[in-house]
Parts: sequence; structure tokens; C-alpha cells
Amino acid sequence: MKKNRLSHRLQNISYSQTIAMSAKARELKNKGYDVINLSLGEPDFYPPNFVLSAAKKAIDEGYHYYTPVSGYLELKKVICEKLYRDNRLKYTPSQIVVSTGAKQAIMNVLLSLLNKDDEVIIPAPYWVSYLQMVNICESSPVIIPTTMNNDFKINPEQLEKAITSKTKLFIFSTPSNPTGSVYSYKELRNLADVFKKHPKIMIIADEIYEHICYSEKHTSIAIFPDIHHQVITVNGLSKAFSMTGWRIGYIGAPEWIAQSCDKIQGQMTSCANSIAQIAAITALSAHPDRIEYMIKEFEKRRNLVLNLIKEIDGFQFSKPNGAFYIFPKVSDFFGKKLYGKTIQNSDEFSEFLLEKAQVATVSGSAFGDNECLRISYASSENKIIEAFTRIKKALK
Ligand code: PMP
Ligand code: GLU
Repeated sequence: MKKNRLSHRLQNISYSQTIAMSAKARELKNKGYDVINLSLGEPDFYPPNFVLSAAKKAIDEGYHYYTPVSGYLELKKVICEKLYRDNRLKYTPSQIVVSTGAKQAIMNVLLSLLNKDDEVIIPAPYWVSYLQMVNICESSPVIIPTTMNNDFKINPEQLEKAITSKTKLFIFSTPSNPTGSVYSYKELRNLADVFKKHPKIMIIADEIYEHICYSEKHTSIAIFPDIHHQVITVNGLSKAFSMTGWRIGYIGAPEWIAQSCDKIQGQMTSCANSIAQIAAITALSAHPDRIEYMIKEFEKRRNLVLNLIKEIDGFQFSKPNGAFYIFPKVSDFFGKKLYGKTIQNSDEFSEFLLEKAQVATVSGSAFGDNECLRISYASSENKIIEAFTRIKKALK
């Protein structure tokens, strides 16, 4: 069996279900099916023109070569300014590493820190790749489940209980993919009090949705001076600037972490794309006001989704305050017969929606919650309305 020849590391991981579902939707579309794809977390906007112009200029000016491994110094300076301007975080360029997307930035940190028996605490629902990345490192994920009643957020007692002598890392996103929950300043302060008692535990704060935040302003957990040295702040251009394919992500971290990420990246990819880095200088120098129009549009869509989902019996949901996902509980449908087939779990429910409503979503199981379903509203209003009309019809 060829499969047995693969590394143990690989035998233990699965394909990214967000990417797999989106590929399936694309394949069906190519075959002529009228599928509405609400599976992938990818903004449907065009990147801002001022950023595109900067990239074109970079090509004409000859930025065609390897950059320093951790990124152009000018970009790292701009990232420090951005992290202070938007998040009140103080970093110096030697604490910044620019990578090929936030995905690589996170993987660099995990490879820097994790040994085989280390434990990584991950609140569920979690972003699909956290768990698999920990598996790639052959470390042990320790999952803290949350419920819709608590807005899918953990509390300090749960955190304290999950910590053991093997705990090396904690990883979470706020605003959250897949739930859209946002941790408040106070909630983060309470978690920080626990981390303060365990100074060896590092925290990966994935803030890629920081600007897509509808109620109170996003807070970075690294803001608290007593745990700042434990935090790796992760961010990138994919969501805020709608530049998913440009692959720019970065970390702000203690220097020893930044140095080890630089070492790993130097062996794995040399550097992030040079043209995209120059464009990132322009993007991140701009005040967030310039991308406000996209956030406003996401908020409109979020409100639209809340109105539409109310109309569907059997969906329980909480109001997402950030990102562009809603994560309804669909377990009311489990054990029921739909078109002659009994739905057993969220995988089957998501399959059902794809087959009968031709709407692609992602099963909650991808994110560690078997009772829910992730619906991305990073799509036009017309598509969202049509998708919910179809879902409602299929479930009748
Ligand atoms: N973290 C979260 C929570 C995400 O949703 C994504 C989306 N892909 C990423 C990280 C990775 O982003 P990037 O495109 O920068 O690799
Ligand atoms: N983060 C997005 C999502 O969750 C993009 C796909 C991925 O990178 O997994 O859908």
C-alpha cells in the first residue's frame, strides 16, 4: 500500500475541509450546476485600486528578486506602525516576520515551538487548520468545547482546567472563524490573568479578521503588558484587503520566536512574494478608513443573513459580531428524514444542502462542532438571498 509509505505525520492529517468543499462547489459549477458557494472564507471584493497600483509600480521598478527572509525592512517598519496605530501594540522590526499568508506564519510558530508530546489548547469551534497543523507537528491538541449559550467563548475556569505540565501553546482567533464571536477587552483580561500564572505558555492570537468587527472594537490580547511577552500576534492581508491570493501574512512576536520563524522560513520558502510585499507597504500604511466600505458591506450582509435565517425553522443561531460567517446549530434536523434519507450529522446536512439546494456550506465537524454548520456571507446580497430561499425550500 502506497499510503503506508507516507510519513506518520501525514497519515494523521486530513485535507482542509473548507478548501475541499469549495473545490467540490467549483467542480459542480464547471459541470453546469448552478451552485451558490457559501463555503469558502474569501471576500468577493476586488482589492483596493491604490494597492493594485503599488504592485504594478513594483513590477516596473524591478522588485523581482528574493527579499530578506523575514521581509523587506520597510514593510516590517510599516507593520510595526500599523500594529501601534490599530492595536496599540509595540513591536520593533526585529520582532516581525512576513510570510506566505497567515497560514504559513502560524505554521512557522508551531514548528518553532512544538515537540512530540507537547499539548496545544484550542477552544472549539476552531479554524479548521489549527488542529491539523498541530497534528503535523505530532503534538497533542487539547480541545475546550464551547456552546452557543456562551457565544462560543471560553472562560478562565475552563482554560485553567485544560492546562497541564505539558501545555506549550494556546491558539485562538478573535473575531472567530467559524463562529463570528468577538472576545471583549474584559474577557481577554480574564484569560490573561490565567496565562500570567503560567508564563511558559505561549499564545497565538490570530487577528486576521480584526477589521471585520461590528460591535465593539477588536482587542488584541498582547495589549496586556504582563503577558505581552507570551503572545504571538498573527495578521495578514487576505481578509481586510481582499487579497487572499497575494499570500501575505505576518507575526509580531518576542524576538526569540521571530528569529526561529526566520530560520524555518529560510529553509522552506526563502521569503514571501516580493511584489506582494511592496503592495503590502502601501496597504498597511493606509488608514483603515480606506477599507471601511467593505466592512460596512459585510455588516449589511450580516444583518441580511440574520433576517433570512430567522425564517428557517430548525436553525438555532447567535448573532455573529465579527468575521463573515454565521454558525447555526442544525442538530434539530438530525434523525429526521429529508427526501427519504435520514440526516445523521452536520456532514450529511451540508451534503444535503449541496445536493438539494445547490448551496455549498461547510459542516461544523471541520471546526470541531458536529451540531453546527458554517455559512460564509462573503458573497453578494443577491446570492445570499437566493441561497437562503433555496435552503428554505429544500427544507420544506
Ligand atoms: N486564520 C484564520 C482564522 C483564517 O480564517 C484564515 C483564512 N484562510 C487564515 C488564518 C489564513 O489566512 P491566509 O490567507 O493569510 O493564509
Ligand atoms: N480561511 C478561509 C476559510 O476558513 C479560507 C480557506 C482556508 O484557508 O482554509 O474558509
